[in-house]
Amino acid sequence: MAYLEGKIVFITAAAQGIGRASVEAFASAGALVVATDINAAKLSELEGVANVTTRVLDVLSDDSVKRVVADIGHIDILFNCAGVVHAGTVLEMSDQDIDFALELNVKAQIRTIKAIMPQMLERKDGAIINMATVASSVKGVPNRAAYSISKAAVIGLTKSIASDFTSSNVRVNAICPGTVDSPSLHERWAATGDVEAARQAFAARQPIGRIAQPEEIADLVVYLAGATYTTGQIHIIDGGWTA
Ligand code: NAD
Repeated sequence: MAYLEGKIVFITAAAQGIGRASVEAFASAGALVVATDINAAKLSELEGVANVTTRVLDVLSDDSVKRVVADIGHIDILFNCAGVVHAGTVLEMSDQDIDFALELNVKAQIRTIKAIMPQMLERKDGAIINMATVASSVKGVPNRAAYSISKAAVIGLTKSIASDFTSSNVRVNAICPGTVDSPSLHERWAATGDVEAARQAFAARQPIGRIAQPEEIADLVVYLAGATYTTGQIHIIDGGWTA
């Protein structure tokens, strides 16, 4: 289905996990995808995929974001996917942990939005999808203090933009996955010292009985990119975790 034929999509953290699956889903929907990531080696695996171009980009760098966006020119859809998960309670959270979580999970989204949204406002058309998670203002999750604080801020950011700019027909939505099979999730399992026990515990907390595949999240991202009458909302996709 050429749902998004010819639309230009800018994706951060596109080299693996949900970002990577979204690159493929957008390309299948007929969009032209600019896949960006800090990891040049991983990103190069996308070279040669039809309708996809790649740009190495560190979203923590304001100059780099502005330069890459200026090079691309026209962008219809922004998917802010980059993020980091910190483990630990608020008592274990260092200033550096919360600072870095806010830098990558929130301020980097603000940075790409400030670089890209003005052209959307001018055209009175655009879609922004911000990556949050249920571990935020949606639900308390153990050992995710810095992560939850920063992802709750993503929800606030999303609603604030919708309040300010809906009349210009720029739609902005946040997505809130539960647990999704991705390379960094496997690293979190390994860090517990018992991968199999961690895998079972993560699957057990999703009432649907399994964790999500990145492609299932990518379908929602593509839907929201083309959805013309929803904005300022959180879209929960968590296998019934918060049902
Ligand atoms: P991942 O964590 O396995 O991969 C993250 C990607 O981000 C990597 O390709 C990495 O190179 C890139 N990246 C890291 N720092 C960057 C930077 N400064 N600039 C540009 N790119 C950078 O992928 P994932 O688990 O699918 O997570 C993607 C997003 O989804 C994150 O925001 C995460 O918080 C969110 N999320 C994940 C889950 C999950 O269970 N996996 C659940 C809910 C939300």
